[in-house]
Amino acid sequence: MIKAIFIDIDGTLLDFEACVEESMRVGLTEKGIEYKPEMLVTFHRINDGLWRDLEKGKLTFEELLKIRWATIFEALEIDLDGPEFEKYFRARLHESAIPMEGSFEMLEYLFGKYRLFAASNGPHEQQVQRLERAGMLRFFGEVFTSGKIGAEKPAKEFFEYCFDKIPDIKPEESLMLGDSLTSDMKGGNAFGMKTVWLNLNGKEKPEWVDYEIKSLLEIKTII
Ligand SMILES: [Mg+2]
Repeated sequence: MIKAIFIDIDGTLLDFEACVEESMRVGLTEKGIEYKPEMLVTFHRINDGLWRDLEKGKLTFEELLKIRWATIFEALEIDLDGPEFEKYFRARLHESAIPMEGSFEMLEYLFGKYRLFAASNGPHEQQVQRLERAGMLRFFGEVFTSGKIGAEKPAKEFFEYCFDKIPDIKPEESLMLGDSLTSDMKGGNAFGMKTVWLNLNGKEKPEWVDYEIKSLLEIKTII
């Protein structure tokens, strides 16, 4: 019997993409630059390239932060200080909490029937603050973050920490709900939890994932 549900935050409860767009739009507007949607395309092209370089070890995170906006502004022919805007953008992003469609209704449906825990790879204070801003914090017994735990999903250390805190619940009595196959689904599955994948892009479900849903409210068909 399922007693508890662990829920990822970004891309599952909160729309991280919309938060990026908002932070960029509001930030640029405040600096006197007219925001155009195609600027977001440039942001993603450059940002994704830099993250790939980072994953390959060609770049450190500090270097990425130093050059990201300078590179974007150069491509967009905008005359602003890149590193300064980086700080401004990140501060905005840390406060941005735009809910994913159906997330609030889903939490209301699950609340009281199951014990709910947030499980996120992210800085602790920031994630707690964003849930609070979205009016979602009250649904959760605990907010588990990699920032606090010192290990990221899918590492077993992340899940060991969570289940040590809730000794009355076993992994097999829990669901892991999230949008990421590599962190949420892999981690939950390896730890013996049931897994529910929020598959918004119509990709093929790997057979080791227990359930897939195409929208959050579809969870009602599972539990
Ligand atoms: Mg996610």
